[in-house]
Order: sequence, then C-alpha cells, then structure tokens
Amino acid sequence: MSQIPAQMTTPPIVEHPRITVVGTGYLGATHAVCMALLGYDVVGLDVDQAKIDQLAAGVLPIFEPDLEEKMQEALASGRLRFSTDVALAAAHGDVHFICVGTPQSKGSDAADLSYVDAAVTSLARELSRKCLIVGKSTVPIGTARRLTALVRSTAPAGDLVELAWNPEFLREGYAIKDTLEPDRLVFGAESDWARAQLAACYASIIAAGTPVVSTDLSTAELVKVAANSFLATKISYINAMAEVCEATGADVSHLALALSYDSRIGGRFLKPGLGFGGGCLPKDIRAFAHRAETLGVGQAVSFLRHVDAINQRRRQRTVDLVCELVGGQLSGARIAALGAAFKPNSDDVRDAPALDVARMLHEAGAVVTVYDPAAMANARRRYPDLSYAQSLDEAVMGAQVVVLLTEWDEFRKADPLRLGELVQTRFIVDGRHALDANRYQAAGWDYRALGRPVRAGSVTVIEFETAERTAQLGAR
Ligand code: NAD
Repeated sequence: MSQIPAQMTTPPIVEHPRITVVGTGYLGATHAVCMALLGYDVVGLDVDQAKIDQLAAGVLPIFEPDLEEKMQEALASGRLRFSTDVALAAAHGDVHFICVGTPQSKGSDAADLSYVDAAVTSLARELSRKCLIVGKSTVPIGTARRLTALVRSTAPAGDLVELAWNPEFLREGYAIKDTLEPDRLVFGAESDWARAQLAACYASIIAAGTPVVSTDLSTAELVKVAANSFLATKISYINAMAEVCEATGADVSHLALALSYDSRIGGRFLKPGLGFGGGCLPKDIRAFAHRAETLGVGQAVSFLRHVDAINQRRRQRTVDLVCELVGGQLSGARIAALGAAFKPNSDDVRDAPALDVARMLHEAGAVVTVYDPAAMANARRRYPDLSYAQSLDEAVMGAQVVVLLTEWDEFRKADPLRLGELVQTRFIVDGRHALDANRYQAAGWDYRALGRPVRAGSVTVIEFETAERTAQLGAR
C-alpha cells in the first residue's frame, strides 16, 4: 500500500471537488447520492431522459434499501442534481466518475464497451479545463490505457485531462454501506496529481481508516475481475461438492458448515444452492476469460469456464428436483416460484438464476406462478409469458410444488403450517438452503434441497448451527 500524498505542488488539486457521475443505474445512482451525502456538489448524468426525470423528482427507479430516502435528502440539500446535458456536466465537474454499464456482448463472452466508449467520448468533447475522469465501471484489462489516448485526442483540454480507474465493489442490497464504508479503495492512476485528486473525493472515508491500494491502471482493472472470479469460484466450488454429495448421499450443508469452521477457508460465499447471477459475476467471469484468451493467457483462467458451467448446472438440477417431486412429469404441474431477483434486497433480474429456473419450468410445460417482493416489474418485462402473483399466498395457492429461488426474508420467515394449508401438496424445493428443514418436515412437508439427501433435516445440533450460521453469513 503506498502513501497518498497529502499535499501536491504542481498542479494543485481541488480540495473539495465538484463531482459528476456519468450513468445513474445501480452503481451510478448510489455513487451520486453518497457523494452528495459526503458533502460534495454532484451532477448525475444519464442518456435516459425518463430515468433522469424520475431521479430529479426524488423517485428511485431501482429497489435498493434506504437509497430513495437518502436521495431525497441529498436533493433537498441542493447538493445533488440530475441532468441529460453533457455540456452542463462537463462544465460542472472537477472529477467525472464513469459508471455506465458494461454488459456481455451479444453473441460473445466479451464485455460490450460501447457504453463506456460513448460516455467517455461525449464527455471528453466538452472538457476544456483540467479535470480527472475516473472509471468505476468493470472493464477488461487495457481499457483504461486505450481510453486515456481517446480522451487526450478528443478533449479540447488535451493532456490536461487525466484518467484514473477506481473499481467499485458495492453489493446490491448493501449499496450505501458499501459505498460509504468500503473494505478498501483501489486507485489506479498514472500521476501523483490524479491520486491526490481521487483521495480528495474520498477524504472522509480515508480519514476513517479505509485502506487505499494505490496502483497502476491495469492492476486496478484486474482487481475487480479477480475479486469477482474468486467469489464466483468459491460459490461454484461448494456447488461442485453438492454434485458429489448428490451422487453419494452426503449432505452438502453439513459439509459447508464443517469447512466454514476452518479459518483458512471461511464460510462466506460457501453457501450451496442455486448459484450466482446478477449484472456482475456471470458477465465478469466470462469477459475475464475472454480477455485472458486475447492476451494469450487463456489457460491461466480456463477454470472460470468450469465455474460458469457448474453454476449453470444448478439451475437444471433444481428443475430436476421439482420434476422428481411431481412424479417425473412437469407438463401441467402447478409450481409456485418464490423469487425472481438474483438475490434478496434487490429488484435486479439480470442473469437471475431464479427467473431462469421459472422460465425452464415453464418451457417444460409446468404452470408456473412467480412472486417476488421487489422484482415483479422487471421480471414481467423479461418474461411476460410467465404468470405472476401479487402475494406469497396467492403464488402458493393450489401449488403442487413450492420452489424457493431467492431467499427473501418474507420467504424465510413464512410459517410452513400456514403455507401448508394453501398448497395442494406439501412439496418444497429449497433452492437456497434458506429454510429450516425441520420446521417444514414437522409441518408435513416433503423438503428437498440441492446436495442434500431426501430425508435431510433430522434434529441435530449441526442442523441447528447450519440455520444460525446461514443467517450470520448473510446474503451475497
Ligand atoms: P446499469 O445498467 O444499472 O446502469 C448503467 C446506466 O448507464 C444506465 O442508467 C444507462 O442509461 C446509463 N448510460 C448508458 N450509456 C450512457 C452514456 N453514454 N452516458 C450516460 N449514461 C449512460 O448498470 P450498473 O449495474 O449500475 O453497472 C454499471 C457498471 O458498474 C458495470 O460495469 C458493472 O459491472 C459495474 N458494477 C456494478 C455493480 C452493481 O452492483 N450493479 C457493482 C460494482 C460494479
């Protein structure tokens, strides 16, 4: 960890920089609000006029706990504005954070950098004074170096504009906390001025003791994809063990518990189940593998292809468990699908395992009714052909199998006795290892979970600890 220079000589930094945030989605909206809460004067810029109108009116277009209230607070303080005017944003900002999407390309595993390129180009065209562009989007190694050349050749201010990379690690569902109290900050920069200017943006967070890893542009880009690859690998590792358990009668939840007490391994991200999804992990590991191949080091991360494949197989295995419970014939079977979001406390359905399983069951002929506490609108947009219920009770009414796909608290806390009165048959597949098997069995349910034997859940101390520990380890 290198020291961030406290004072710069030439050129001077702006101690209390005015900030723009380009792209106001899950990452950008959170970053803009948090920067305003920290006392900076912020303009949030987006190309989506409808989104900007909503944000300016104090309405958050996404579900993220507490963010709407905090945004209203920031708007009322006068320190946060939203706009689609690039010239206004360019004139405003001493530091411009790039937070636009980098989805998977159509027909390829590569990241689609067209949004980043467009955002940086349109901004650079309007930059006529010294300022810093800071990439926060997740990008393949080498992007920042390419963008540096692009900015210098495009901006009227030329070399006066510098570019740094400051990857973001926030988790949806915990976005505010992760932004204001990050585990670490990573500054990829090519000059002391850029590093000091970045440090000025995070002054209070650094003063609170947050470690800052100061590095070059490529390493900063790599930190983010390396972190996501590690997390994805850990999840797929325990799910690979679940596959072995299924073939042997062993119980993956007891296995995970036993492994988690090993301090070298730890329990986080070691929770078996339906696997990872969302707008980050799946596309990030694919883009990383793709980029490594183009760099001639594809072999070094070829294991990520297996990590992805293990993750995808959990979806089919969940469908298979449901199929077994209805006697091998999904056609016409009434299934209640609990959850659509890729994880609880989010409305994000990008590459969501939950919605994918619902789709697969539907395509196999089942009559699937989906309910999610926050992601209904996004799910309906993605799969309009599925049936949607307005409540948990409505979803499970008359169901032959209930399948838990996203571990929302509402589902974890549901009373199995009461639910049992609503369904046709008391069959449940716990795709997230989130329910108390004993309570369900005591209420007369046939409880199944990936990687667990059919009669899993007898009363033991280990079983009790599993539930406790699952709650402690928290959601991804
Ligand atoms: P998102 O799709 O929610 O938001 C992207 C926003 O950028 C949209 O509002 C879009 O309209 C806007 N946009 C597109 N082109 C633009 C342009 N030219 N100018 C201005 N705005 C433009 O995506 P997201 O989930 O916020 O992710 C953004 C980036 O952050 C991605 O690279 C992602 O991998 C990374 N990231 C996301 C998270 C997360 O939890 N969502 C966490 C860490 C990193």
